[in-house]
Amino acid sequence: MSARKPAAILPGATVGVLGSGQLGRMFAIAARRMGYRVHTFSPDDDTPTGQVADREVQGAYDDLDAVRAFARDVDVVTFEFENVSSSAAEAAAEQAPVRPAGSVLHTTQHRLREKGFLADLGVPVAPYSPVRTLEDLHRAVARLGTPSVLKTAGWGYDGKGQVKINLPDDAEGAWSALNAREAVLEKFVDFEREVSVVAARGLDGSFAHFGLIANDHSRHILDVSVAPAPVPPMTPAIVHEAIEIARGVLEGLGVVGVLCVEMFLTRDGRLLVNELAPRPHNSGHLTFDACVTSQFEQQLRAICGLPLGATELLRPAAMANLLGDLWQGGEPDWIAACRFPDVKLHLYGKATARPGRKMGHLTALAASPEEARQKVLAARNVLARR
Ligand code: AMP
Repeated sequence: MSARKPAAILPGATVGVLGSGQLGRMFAIAARRMGYRVHTFSPDDDTPTGQVADREVQGAYDDLDAVRAFARDVDVVTFEFENVSSSAAEAAAEQAPVRPAGSVLHTTQHRLREKGFLADLGVPVAPYSPVRTLEDLHRAVARLGTPSVLKTAGWGYDGKGQVKINLPDDAEGAWSALNAREAVLEKFVDFEREVSVVAARGLDGSFAHFGLIANDHSRHILDVSVAPAPVPPMTPAIVHEAIEIARGVLEGLGVVGVLCVEMFLTRDGRLLVNELAPRPHNSGHLTFDACVTSQFEQQLRAICGLPLGATELLRPAAMANLLGDLWQGGEPDWIAACRFPDVKLHLYGKATARPGRKMGHLTALAASPEEARQKVLAARNVLARR
């Protein structure tokens, strides 16, 4: 007997989002555009997602009864925040399909499990050692050398929960600063570029990707993304390899939804996977304005069992994040940025601007990736009140 194909979840149905940040907001905008209803669950109120959702439910992620009740009211559950515990994902799954599945979260929310998965798949990563004690760390530093980066195994993002070790003598201070039970020491990669592939896998196993995106970080936080990633330093072979890595990861994890593979391109032309994010990703925000189907609509299509949309990039594009630091001299000069007629302004509806907090982004389209980058930086530059 063949297993029955799960039915597609059609417009008019309700999608539940665990998490309530900007990723959920842009997902909700895409979902509502296609006639779906959206509910969001998080501990907060008046959230970026809640402001555009049909319903904003407030609850703690570890309140499993609240998670169950939330899931009971929706047709499918997804997440925009990957630090939801396995038990919360399981509680939701008792009531509605959870896509991607909790097992995907379980692997990707823990750096050692993630690296183990990548190693089994034969995907290269930066040399690393697990660290559980100070003695482990001394041994790991001796083995990998310096500079290296000590990262907590769980619950880290945007450079939170990591400390750079420049000299062997820094090890003890780094271990106490990190204050972690379990960590990983990674060799510091002298990279040429950071790149990412945002890709989707449908309920039927179909695969679609948004090509290679080049990313610049500042203070460990994404600053600017450009697509397509400029050639050189990319070559068609590198682009192909990056996409095949992403395909292997999505298939290996059995993802239904969107996943981003963040990679380093080393100076000698090798790709090393840094991190997996099992959801739309900041580097894919430019797809909202620049692609036939955005990463958010693609997530919706995947989790609802619809055919995936075309990922074609309409024009080269660049995205620049707007962090809370921009508010230091007062409310940014929105009119000045709007004088760039082909730059799109996205704001996430966050009331308080703190340094390092992602408040919004700009996207510019242009004739070339470099021109798009220049344009988006010029538009961001006029925002700050000095
Ligand atoms: P992560 O939270 O692991 O994505 O790290 C955030 C950022 O820190 C990365 O995007 C890099 O810019 C930098 N970083 C993290 N790990 C390394 C590494 N092993 N070598 C060099 N830079 C790193």
